[in-house]
Amino acid sequence: MKVSLASAMGTCFGVQDAINLAMSPEFSSDLTIVGQLVHNPQVSESLKQNGVSLVPGIEDIEKIKTRKVMITAHGAAEQTKQQLHDAGFIVYDASCPLVMRVHKTIKSLVTKGYFPVVIGQKDHVEVKGIVGDLDDYLVINSEDDFSKIKDSGNRKLGIVTQTTQQTDKVEDLVEKIRALDYVDDVAFVNTICQPTRDRQVAVHELADQVDLMIVIGGFNSSNTKKLVHVCTEKGVEAHHIESFHQLNQEWFIGRQHVGITAGTSTPEDVINEVHSEILSIAKRVEGLEKEVLHSQ
Ligand code: SF4
Repeated sequence: MKVSLASAMGTCFGVQDAINLAMSPEFSSDLTIVGQLVHNPQVSESLKQNGVSLVPGIEDIEKIKTRKVMITAHGAAEQTKQQLHDAGFIVYDASCPLVMRVHKTIKSLVTKGYFPVVIGQKDHVEVKGIVGDLDDYLVINSEDDFSKIKDSGNRKLGIVTQTTQQTDKVEDLVEKIRALDYVDDVAFVNTICQPTRDRQVAVHELADQVDLMIVIGGFNSSNTKKLVHVCTEKGVEAHHIESFHQLNQEWFIGRQHVGITAGTSTPEDVINEVHSEILSIAKRVEGLEKEVLHSQ
């Protein structure tokens, strides 16, 4: 059984910079992260062990007991940052520059007279940050949401995407929006970030070669779920796991080639643990398969 790693996977620079900042000794147990810094349980756990407190969002401002707070790599609306400043906190901003580019892009489209539309998940912290300073907007995620565009009565749309969307899905949606008879003008800026694109291209390439894919990342990580989706769309069986403990030997029986990929918030040590456990499983499964052949 061959085991291959995707050519691009795991922690992106935006997530790594945010983790490094949060782990900095200068905070010494006087830091609360507002929103999940990254969608990865192991990273959240090691932050807690370093004395960093976590609250799910700005709505939990009353629960913050530290003087210093940090905005996550997913970014936040200017209003949110201001609210934290006004409440007397020292605000550290770990927003990824590629998320901030989306904030700037959508505001610039609004200035040019376009009605803002975000392709993404409306409850995702990144999307909440993107739209948080806008008076009016739409978030769409599939064709089912096109009725929202019609009902809004807006015919001139400025569209951006959540950074971790799937490229082909977004392009397809935009093409269909352009064809709607109740839309006159579409300005589209594809704001899927480069690390996400690289991981999607790599998983496409690897999925063409393997008969099983193991995808590592937080169960609530948007970009990890997209990697699973790419594989299943191509008819390749894929299993989404957060750690090597969730690997199941049964998945590997009869496989020729297994691929491994990971979302942008999966640390290298978690990937390494999964990789070495899969190599051990591959050896065990090969041994079992040989035994069966001999006994026939
Ligand atoms: S996934 Fe992209 S936008 Fe998000 S933190 Fe990483 S590089 Fe930045």
